Amino acid sequence: MFENLSERLSGVFDRLTKQGALSEEDVKTALREVRVALLEADVSLPVARDFVKAVQEKATGQAVTKSITPGQQVVKIVHDALIDVLSGEGEPGALKVDNPPAPILMVGLQGGGKTTTTAKLAKRLKERDGKRVLMASLDVNRPAAMEQLAILGVQIGVDTLPIIKGEDPVAITKRAKTQAGLGGYDVYMLDTAGRLSIDEELMQQVEAVRDVVTPRETLLVVDGLTGQDAVHTAENFDERIGISGVVLTRMDGDGRGGAALSMRAVTGKPIKFVGLGEKMDALETFEPERIAGRILGMGDIVALVEKAQETIEAEQAEKMMKRMAKGQFNMNDLKMQLEQMMKMGGMQGMMGMMPGMGKMAKQVEDAGLDDKVLLRQIALIQSMTKKERANPALLQASRKKRIAKGAGMEVSDLNKLMKMHRQMSDMMKKMGKMGKGGMLKQAMK
Ligand code: GDP
Repeated sequence: MFENLSERLSGVFDRLTKQGALSEEDVKTALREVRVALLEADVSLPVARDFVKAVQEKATGQAVTKSITPGQQVVKIVHDALIDVLSGEGEPGALKVDNPPAPILMVGLQGGGKTTTTAKLAKRLKERDGKRVLMASLDVNRPAAMEQLAILGVQIGVDTLPIIKGEDPVAITKRAKTQAGLGGYDVYMLDTAGRLSIDEELMQQVEAVRDVVTPRETLLVVDGLTGQDAVHTAENFDERIGISGVVLTRMDGDGRGGAALSMRAVTGKPIKFVGLGEKMDALETFEPERIAGRILGMGDIVALVEKAQETIEAEQAEKMMKRMAKGQFNMNDLKMQLEQMMKMGGMQGMMGMMPGMGKMAKQVEDAGLDDKVLLRQIALIQSMTKKERANPALLQASRKKRIAKGAGMEVSDLNKLMKMHRQMSDMMKKMGKMGKGGMLKQAMK
């Protein structure tokens, strides 16, 4: 899967990572190529556009670190953006199958791989999760389909509901429900009938079945080779039936992979599994990180950049701690603290975590400080000169006015910030004396 897209992207990034310095124009050109590659892979236009925009924004905002090239950094940003576009909430591949017997409704068009996937999933539930599974085919129009499921059931050692000729889908569903309860099954899977295209009768039938059981999961099975059609099918089914996730089949083929990339962004529904062949084992959990890795094929660069970023953060934190232990705490340190706080769930979250800072957390709350305030404070510090940041006591009234104006705020806001800095600085000095940084070190862990 994704071979073509992967090849295209690695061409773009090979060129980029070989260059030492990058101009904004280089990045733009590369991203234009990324966009074309995505569109050729049948990713929907708005998704491709948003993707490139997100990467562009991050790439311009990011400070370049010493040990990696800008090209490598762009690769990492693209990698993270891929994960973003592929990710849904929750554990990949997790199914709600508690409260036995849990009904799973399998829906989709004919030929998409619904019956095969039903059996693959049943096998997985049985073998991985130790569940007792019952499968039932509701495809009354195609006796061959019912038999196909029964045969697969025997093959994987999973029970199927006995076929009774002439029964309608709702009656079969009711029987399956009763049988699942009486037989002590954990899960029962309903393989609904498919059609060649979406039609009213099909939808009504699936709705009727859905209303009998209230499924814990409603999984749409679609052929991944059909690209954007697969995404439209998902939109349609979701609107009518409400789906909880998608299984993309035939991802073993040389499809362009666009469905995988557009699905989540367009439908809001996660891809839970991918089908990778006709065999009963050919089903994989859809893991965004691994898929992103496969698409990009640049795992070593991603790992390198991650390592470099970690090292830099650790070095910065260490430096700051040393300075703080000595009672030195300037505006740069405060800025770093504020940025760290943003990362760690805002000011209260962070203060709450630091021993001895509970009281300050309360003050912060009383002062009505939230993340927006953090951003504004960072902006104020950014408006100061290097010298002023190192020694805020230097600030004269005229400079204060200019700084406040530069950050779009009032002098009183700046005064508040300076007061906070003084208080924190005093506290750092005290803490430094108390434990020679020991307490702070602990707090920073
Ligand atoms: P249904 O009509 O939706 O129930 O589709 P089936 O389950 O009968 O599948 C139709 C065909 O697609 C069968 O020949 C399957 O073996 C095949 N198939 C299903 N899933 C996959 C897959 O992930 N990869 C490949 N290569 N073939 C698949």
